[in-house]
Amino acid sequence: MPSRSQHDAFDNHASPFCSMRGKPGGIVKTADIVVIGAGIVGAAIAFGLLGKGKKVMVLDGAPEDFRASRANFGLIWVQGKGEGIPSYQAITQQSASEWDEFARKVREIARLPLTMEQKGGLILCLGDKEWSARSAKNERLAAQQPGREPDTVMLERDELSRLLPGVRLGQEVVGASFGRTDGHVNPLELLTSLHVAIRRLGGAVSFGTPVLNVRPTSLGFEIVTDKETFAAEKVVLAAGLSTPGLAAPLGMRVPLKPQRGQILVTERMRPFLPFPASGLRQTGEGTVTIGATQEDVGLDISTTVSAASRLAARAVRIVPALEHATIVRQWSGLRIKSPDGAPIYDRSRRYPGAFVASCHSGVTLAAYHAHGVADAVIAGALDDHMSAFAPERFDVQKCA
Ligand SMILES: Cc1cc2nc3c(=O)[nH]c(=O)nc-3n(C[C@H](O)[C@H](O)[C@H](O)COP(=O)(O)OP(=O)(O)OC[C@H]3O[C@@H](n4cnc5c(N)ncnc54)[C@H](O)[C@@H]3O)c2cc1C
Repeated sequence: MPSRSQHDAFDNHASPFCSMRGKPGGIVKTADIVVIGAGIVGAAIAFGLLGKGKKVMVLDGAPEDFRASRANFGLIWVQGKGEGIPSYQAITQQSASEWDEFARKVREIARLPLTMEQKGGLILCLGDKEWSARSAKNERLAAQQPGREPDTVMLERDELSRLLPGVRLGQEVVGASFGRTDGHVNPLELLTSLHVAIRRLGGAVSFGTPVLNVRPTSLGFEIVTDKETFAAEKVVLAAGLSTPGLAAPLGMRVPLKPQRGQILVTERMRPFLPFPASGLRQTGEGTVTIGATQEDVGLDISTTVSAASRLAARAVRIVPALEHATIVRQWSGLRIKSPDGAPIYDRSRRYPGAFVASCHSGVTLAAYHAHGVADAVIAGALDDHMSAFAPERFDVQKCA
């Protein structure tokens, strides 16, 4: 842990990182590793690297950047993930199993509340068709891991009602898939706690410092911003939808596209929903979040009436009492999606100290990022599991 005087130094914006030499337009500061992007992905990796004794600088972008980490649903979600991609299924399970310990460490270091619960989660089924499709999907996922107890169990309406004694379910609800290891977290508390924890561990987070480019040097990399230039042995590109542009000059192709998700939030209600459900979750404060749409509309974060009415209509079919709830907010964010929906982790072949980390389940995978991905960056190599997430997999699919 850094000393109190180091904390004070950060509070006064005096960085403990070494200033090496003057330079027109900025100075060079050194770190072992610079992480580009202070969203959940970059912040979780930086937290993990600092915990392993590395000197880390995190640079975050401009106010107008897209930030999925501030717009998400907060689920730690295993069920349904990784069909046809067993490595994705495995790292999701691993991350969920490490989440509780990860949250404990973040809380201990940040000394801030981090509301999190992981006692199971529901995918509610309206009608027999949804129930059969969900049940078949769960069976296919279980078949990918013979010998392992399945993550999910299908519940008939009666069993579901017993699990949700405070809810009068809509008539069309026939049951649900229950994921034993699913859970939820307050995503904004998570992000803030990670930023504070990074600083308390002796790292730095610099907001409003968009990276213009990353230049390979004989010692590693120069990371150029309009204020300062940073030098580091390694660099991790975790800049969300901006990652492809930063990665291309380093010889890494990162095929990503945005997918808009809109979410509604109700007024605070008495606690009635003891488990998060995909599409419906009651937060610690009592609000109910309803979401999220999946829309291919490019880089557009508008909110729309049509999405609000679709989301609200489905929520009312599940829990008719929500008909009377007041909607107090609606927002949208852009998911960061690869062509197959699984993460992209990569290391540059040409410049081996450069790494990419990108995924569309950054909350769920936060524990894995702080552990597995941070270890890989330190080792300078992706382990066997992670190499399955290199973007070359898309070339193979194309040839097949
Ligand atoms: C509606 C919605 C619901 C979701 N629900 C869930 C969920 O329930 N569970 C789950 O696990 N995941 C969920 N996700 C996905 C999750 O939010 C993302 O996987 C995660 O936030 C991605 O984090 P990130 O750090 O990669 O990207 P971002 O949060 O987008 O952060 C990228 C950061 O990089 C910075 N940046 C960009 N360019 C530069 C630059 N040139 N220099 C420096 N910094 C730069 C930006 O300023 C930004 O802060 C959801 C997403 C959405 C949109």
